[in-house]
Amino acid sequence: MLDLLYTPGKYNLNFNIAASLMDTLILVFFLSRKKARNYRSKLFVLLLINLTIAAIAEDADGLMRNGLLDCSNNLKTFITVVAHYFHESIAFLLTLYLLEILVSFREVRHSEVWLISIPQILLTVFELVPPLRHLLFYYDKAGFYNRGQLYAVIYYGIIIAYLLIGVLIMVRNWNTFAQKDLRYVVFVTIGFIVSMMFEWIDEYLRVTVFLQSLCMLGVYVYIENDRETFEEGTSLMNKNALMRETNILFEGTDYTSYVISVRIRRNEMYEVTLGEEIASGLLRKINVWMSQLTRERIHVYHISPLTYAVMLFNDTEENAVAMADMIMNRFSREWEYNYTPAMYSAQVLIGSVPYDISQSEQMLVFTDRGYDANLPTDRILYAEDVMKADARRAMVEVALNRALDGNTFEVFYQPIYDTMTNRIHSCEALVRMNDRDMGYVSPEEFIKVAEHTGMVGKIGEIVFEKVCRFISEKNPKQYGIDFIEVNLSTIQCMDTDLPDRFAEIMKKYGVTSDEINLEITESAVVGSESTMQDVLHRLHDMGLAFALDDFGTGNANYSYIMNYPFRIIKVDKSFLWNSFKSHDNEVIFDNMISLIRGLRREAVVEGVETEDQKDRLVKDGVRYLQGYFYSKPVPEDEFLNYVKQFNL
Ligand code: C2E
Ligand code: CA
Ligand code: CA
Repeated sequence: MLDLLYTPGKYNLNFNIAASLMDTLILVFFLSRKKARNYRSKLFVLLLINLTIAAIAEDADGLMRNGLLDCSNNLKTFITVVAHYFHESIAFLLTLYLLEILVSFREVRHSEVWLISIPQILLTVFELVPPLRHLLFYYDKAGFYNRGQLYAVIYYGIIIAYLLIGVLIMVRNWNTFAQKDLRYVVFVTIGFIVSMMFEWIDEYLRVTVFLQSLCMLGVYVYIENDRETFEEGTSLMNKNALMRETNILFEGTDYTSYVISVRIRRNEMYEVTLGEEIASGLLRKINVWMSQLTRERIHVYHISPLTYAVMLFNDTEENAVAMADMIMNRFSREWEYNYTPAMYSAQVLIGSVPYDISQSEQMLVFTDRGYDANLPTDRILYAEDVMKADARRAMVEVALNRALDGNTFEVFYQPIYDTMTNRIHSCEALVRMNDRDMGYVSPEEFIKVAEHTGMVGKIGEIVFEKVCRFISEKNPKQYGIDFIEVNLSTIQCMDTDLPDRFAEIMKKYGVTSDEINLEITESAVVGSESTMQDVLHRLHDMGLAFALDDFGTGNANYSYIMNYPFRIIKVDKSFLWNSFKSHDNEVIFDNMISLIRGLRREAVVEGVETEDQKDRLVKDGVRYLQGYFYSKPVPEDEFLNYVKQFNL
């Protein structure tokens, strides 16, 4: 055994044993954890296999040359060919790996690959064709190894050729030099060159493959490391990976890539009604489905629990649209976990790189945004749609500021009809903004913007004050209006000063609490935090009553609703409209009405536009109706005229 240790004049075998063990170990680690395969990781695996074979073959060769393995010249030649060939091929593979990192996902030109392959082909020919091989090395009649005439020219020549090609590639892609990956590749390349120098210094030491394997360990840790790239516990790549892999696309490329952003709507209802476990099981199912979209140049990233990005590197718009279509279609069907089905709606957006998205920051914004209720969900969206929406939002913000400064918000009133008394018995106050540039902007749109910018509190107070002023000045009670409904935004319900300020305003105008009813949406109730509970209870203690708005659209579960003092439940207009479209929807609508009745709450049905609708609701025994059939929301004087005519 001692013979195996390094003694001058004998080939040392130890380093290669260590190298093959180390390479195998890295390979096992890598293959057991790495999930998605791209061309680069395949090259990495190939490099490791190559090194392992080189190490083993070189040791067999060393044993032979140490005289410990006696065999025919043919077998000796074969072993030496394997050892040399795999050892030398590392230069070729490393160059390809370098190219892949530098121009990753770009169409690597075939001509480039051919150029890079020439020295390797030369090597292959020399190793395989006996007369040529004789010029590299040969075993003489006594079975001793000899170098051929072209040994140095070919072997060193190939290494030098790859060194030059490597430098050429780096220079050509100099602009991406700052990239982290590239820095490591440069270190690794230097490591490989240094390790080869040992071979030139002492042929017997045979430490080269070991040192190169150490370099591969470095590559494994810094480049092919799962943690850097993959999300823990899933087979999806993370946000870091997206930013890292797309960075290069902004450096000026002559081809187009596409990014598809997938944003899923959080469905709180599933967490509440199905339970945490099933809800997360369903999301895992989505993860698995998304990850199987991965292809050679199609990568899937999990940006946040409910957002994904799919990159199509160097691809066509048709392919991107087809992919987006496929994703949209999948989300139009249900998901299932533990025999529990559920639907998740998703928004699918396409952006082209580097045209729509030309910077890393834009990529981050585009992919890291969640489901946006302001964007339509019925079709694939394009980056320009989002930008238009952003621009529009900015305009709305300007208009809001103008309206606040100029105090130009108006409040319109829409009557609510009582089918028992055939009179208008209340109304809903709805805010209006008429901007000099934008004209009338729907509150549906600007309330959301105001919520984001923190202006909604002020707007709500203005509306509340205008309603109180209206009550005190015009005394609508005299015409039969018992109370006025005022909308409260979720954000307002989080403001602990709100009850005091409302109390102050009511006192200022001498309005009593039975003259006002506050409308809150379901989502406000579900998101209920202790602050909100506190605010709502204090308003309730002041004597104000509540109506639950948009019933059926949010995710409230019923036991939750019962914890709040709602006197009125307003059924969202979509339920009425749908109930005329199909029998199933009619059943759903009827159930909602009987549920409200069973809970001994008053139902208000919104969106009554036609006589047909009114007649059926009356037949169903729904007491309160609101909608264009009676009147659109109108300014206060117009509203009063209408009520006077109707009620008197
Ligand atoms: P909402 O509270 O569900 O208000 C009812 C909406 O339905 C109103 O839209 C009303 O004009 C509309 N509507 C009523 N009857 C019919 C009908 O028969 N057909 C159709 N097509 N629509 C009908 P509007 O005024 O555009 O308000 C939209 C939303 O903006 C409101 O929905 C509410 O969520 C919000 N909003 C309005 N005013 C305020 C406010 O003062 N404060 C807050 N926080 N939100 C408000
Ligand atoms: Ca409302
Ligand atoms: Ca409503």
